[in-house]
Amino acid sequence: MVDLAGRPLTPCSPEKAAQNLRDGLATLSADGILRLNYRPLAHRRIYKQVQKRDGWLCAWCGGPGTTLDHVIPICWGGETALENCVIACRACNHSRNNALPSTFVKWTGFRPRHPVIRGILADEPAALRRAEQALSEKPLSACLSREEAQVWVAFHSDTVERVRPNPPEAPMTRFKPESRPFREYFVP
Ligand SMILES: [Zn+2]
Repeated sequence: MVDLAGRPLTPCSPEKAAQNLRDGLATLSADGILRLNYRPLAHRRIYKQVQKRDGWLCAWCGGPGTTLDHVIPICWGGETALENCVIACRACNHSRNNALPSTFVKWTGFRPRHPVIRGILADEPAALRRAEQALSEKPLSACLSREEAQVWVAFHSDTVERVRPNPPEAPMTRFKPESRPFREYFVP
Protein backbone atom coordinates (compact mmCIF):
# COMPACT_ATOMS: atom_id res chain seq x y z
CA MET A 1 0.00 0.00 0.00
CA VAL A 2 1.33 3.43 -0.93
CA ASP A 3 0.05 6.98 -0.65
CA LEU A 4 -0.51 9.41 -3.53
CA ALA A 5 3.18 10.27 -3.69
CA GLY A 6 4.11 6.59 -3.81
CA ARG A 7 5.42 6.51 -0.24
CA PRO A 8 4.97 3.10 1.36
CA LEU A 9 2.39 2.78 4.15
CA THR A 10 1.83 0.04 6.69
CA PRO A 11 0.43 -2.95 4.78
CA CYS A 12 -3.26 -3.56 5.36
CA SER A 13 -5.31 -6.72 5.45
CA PRO A 14 -6.91 -8.02 2.22
CA GLU A 15 -10.34 -7.25 3.73
CA LYS A 16 -9.41 -3.65 4.37
CA ALA A 17 -7.89 -3.34 0.90
CA ALA A 18 -11.11 -4.67 -0.65
CA GLN A 19 -13.14 -2.24 1.46
CA ASN A 20 -10.96 0.68 0.33
CA LEU A 21 -11.47 -0.33 -3.32
CA ARG A 22 -15.24 -0.73 -2.85
CA ASP A 23 -15.47 2.68 -1.19
CA GLY A 24 -13.53 4.34 -4.00
CA LEU A 25 -10.75 5.32 -1.59
CA ALA A 26 -7.96 3.48 -3.41
CA THR A 27 -6.95 2.13 -6.78
CA LEU A 28 -5.15 -1.11 -7.50
CA SER A 29 -2.43 -1.14 -10.13
CA ALA A 30 -1.56 -4.13 -12.31
CA ASP A 31 1.52 -4.86 -10.21
CA GLY A 32 -0.58 -5.27 -7.08
CA ILE A 33 0.13 -1.91 -5.48
CA LEU A 34 -2.78 -0.39 -3.61
CA ARG A 35 -2.65 3.37 -3.99
CA LEU A 36 -4.72 5.37 -1.53
CA ASN A 37 -6.59 8.32 -3.03
CA TYR A 38 -6.11 10.40 0.09
CA ARG A 39 -3.12 11.55 2.14
CA PRO A 40 -2.91 9.89 5.55
CA LEU A 41 0.69 10.99 6.14
CA ALA A 42 -0.24 14.67 6.03
CA HIS A 43 -2.61 13.98 8.93
CA ARG A 44 0.38 13.40 11.22
CA ARG A 45 1.92 16.70 10.13
CA ILE A 46 -1.23 18.65 11.05
CA TYR A 47 -1.44 16.81 14.37
CA LYS A 48 2.12 17.87 15.19
CA GLN A 49 1.39 21.49 14.22
CA VAL A 50 -1.74 21.62 16.37
CA GLN A 51 0.10 19.95 19.24
CA LYS A 52 2.88 22.50 18.97
CA ARG A 53 0.37 25.36 19.06
CA ASP A 54 -1.88 23.97 21.84
CA GLY A 55 0.55 21.92 23.92
CA TRP A 56 -0.83 18.91 25.79
CA LEU A 57 -3.93 20.71 27.06
CA CYS A 58 -7.51 19.90 26.19
CA ALA A 59 -9.06 22.96 24.54
CA TRP A 60 -12.45 22.11 26.07
CA CYS A 61 -11.88 21.18 29.71
CA GLY A 62 -8.29 22.33 30.24
CA GLY A 63 -7.13 18.90 31.41
CA PRO A 64 -4.24 16.97 29.87
CA GLY A 65 -5.06 16.13 26.26
CA THR A 66 -3.39 14.25 23.44
CA THR A 67 -5.97 13.64 20.71
CA LEU A 68 -6.70 15.69 17.61
CA ASP A 69 -10.24 17.04 17.79
CA HIS A 70 -12.10 18.45 14.77
CA VAL A 71 -14.17 21.37 16.07
CA ILE A 72 -16.56 21.11 13.10
CA PRO A 73 -16.74 17.28 12.99
CA ILE A 74 -15.42 15.49 9.90
CA CYS A 75 -18.88 14.21 9.00
CA TRP A 76 -20.03 17.84 8.72
CA GLY A 77 -17.20 18.59 6.32
CA GLY A 78 -14.76 19.78 9.00
CA GLU A 79 -11.24 19.67 7.66
CA THR A 80 -8.04 18.41 9.23
CA ALA A 81 -6.51 21.86 9.35
CA LEU A 82 -5.13 24.25 11.95
CA GLU A 83 -8.26 26.43 11.65
CA ASN A 84 -10.56 23.53 12.57
CA CYS A 85 -8.52 21.38 14.94
CA VAL A 86 -7.58 21.58 18.59
CA ILE A 87 -6.02 19.20 21.09
CA ALA A 88 -8.62 17.50 23.26
CA CYS A 89 -8.55 14.88 25.98
CA ARG A 90 -10.06 11.52 25.14
CA ALA A 91 -13.02 12.11 27.45
CA CYS A 92 -14.03 15.29 25.62
CA ASN A 93 -13.22 13.99 22.15
CA HIS A 94 -15.06 10.70 22.57
CA SER A 95 -18.03 12.00 24.49
CA ARG A 96 -18.61 14.76 21.96
CA ASN A 97 -18.39 12.32 19.03
CA ASN A 98 -20.16 14.03 16.10
CA ALA A 99 -21.98 16.66 18.10
CA LEU A 100 -21.49 20.24 16.99
CA PRO A 101 -19.46 22.49 19.29
CA SER A 102 -22.53 24.50 20.36
CA THR A 103 -24.26 21.28 21.45
CA PHE A 104 -21.22 20.09 23.39
CA VAL A 105 -20.94 23.41 25.20
CA LYS A 106 -24.62 23.11 26.14
CA TRP A 107 -24.09 19.58 27.52
CA THR A 108 -21.02 20.36 29.54
CA GLY A 109 -21.30 24.01 30.50
CA PHE A 110 -17.73 24.51 29.31
CA ARG A 111 -16.67 27.98 28.24
CA PRO A 112 -13.80 27.21 25.92
CA ARG A 113 -11.31 30.02 25.51
CA HIS A 114 -9.43 28.51 22.59
CA PRO A 115 -9.58 31.00 19.68
CA VAL A 116 -10.39 28.28 17.12
CA ILE A 117 -13.41 27.11 19.12
CA ARG A 118 -14.53 30.64 19.97
CA GLY A 119 -14.26 31.70 16.34
CA ILE A 120 -16.44 28.81 15.21
CA LEU A 121 -18.95 29.24 18.04
CA ALA A 122 -19.31 32.93 17.16
CA ASP A 123 -21.11 31.91 13.97
CA GLU A 124 -21.52 28.15 13.76
CA PRO A 125 -24.01 28.16 10.84
CA ALA A 126 -21.50 30.13 8.75
CA ALA A 127 -18.71 27.71 9.73
CA LEU A 128 -20.92 24.80 8.65
CA ARG A 129 -21.65 26.47 5.31
CA ARG A 130 -17.93 27.09 4.77
CA ALA A 131 -17.14 23.46 5.62
CA GLU A 132 -19.73 22.15 3.17
CA GLN A 133 -18.49 24.53 0.49
CA ALA A 134 -14.89 23.34 1.00
CA LEU A 135 -16.05 19.73 0.85
CA SER A 136 -17.82 20.31 -2.45
CA GLU A 137 -14.80 22.05 -4.00
CA LYS A 138 -11.82 20.01 -2.84
CA PRO A 139 -10.60 16.88 -4.62
CA LEU A 140 -10.54 13.50 -2.87
CA SER A 141 -6.75 13.73 -2.86
CA ALA A 142 -6.99 16.64 -0.40
CA CYS A 143 -8.52 14.38 2.27
CA LEU A 144 -6.16 13.54 5.11
CA SER A 145 -7.78 10.54 6.72
CA ARG A 146 -9.91 7.55 5.88
CA GLU A 147 -12.89 9.09 7.65
CA GLU A 148 -12.49 12.34 5.72
CA ALA A 149 -12.22 10.41 2.45
CA GLN A 150 -15.34 8.38 3.27
CA VAL A 151 -17.29 11.55 3.96
CA TRP A 152 -15.98 13.03 0.70
CA VAL A 153 -17.14 10.01 -1.31
CA ALA A 154 -20.55 10.03 0.41
CA PHE A 155 -20.99 13.77 -0.14
CA HIS A 156 -20.09 13.55 -3.81
CA SER A 157 -22.43 10.62 -4.40
CA ASP A 158 -25.31 12.30 -2.55
CA THR A 159 -25.37 9.77 0.25
CA VAL A 160 -23.95 11.98 2.94
CA GLU A 161 -26.76 10.99 5.34
CA ARG A 162 -25.09 7.58 5.50
CA VAL A 163 -22.01 9.02 7.18
CA ARG A 164 -23.76 11.81 9.04
CA PRO A 165 -25.92 10.24 11.69
CA ASN A 166 -28.30 12.48 13.57
CA PRO A 167 -26.27 14.30 16.18
CA PRO A 168 -26.46 12.43 19.47
CA GLU A 169 -28.85 13.82 22.05
CA ALA A 170 -26.43 13.27 24.90
CA PRO A 171 -22.71 12.63 25.29
CA MET A 172 -21.59 9.26 23.91
CA THR A 173 -19.93 8.22 27.13
CA ARG A 174 -20.95 9.30 30.58
CA PHE A 175 -19.25 12.59 30.99
CA LYS A 176 -17.58 13.44 34.27
CA PRO A 177 -15.78 16.73 33.90
CA GLU A 178 -14.40 16.54 37.44
CA SER A 179 -12.46 13.34 36.81
CA ARG A 180 -9.35 13.53 34.69
CA PRO A 181 -8.06 10.00 34.55
CA PHE A 182 -6.74 10.26 31.00
CA ARG A 183 -3.12 10.74 31.85
CA GLU A 184 -1.51 8.06 29.78
CA TYR A 185 -0.46 9.57 26.50
CA PHE A 186 -2.17 8.37 23.40
CA VAL A 187 -0.76 9.12 19.99
CA PRO A 188 -3.15 8.37 17.12
ZN1 LIG B 1 -11.19 17.59 27.87
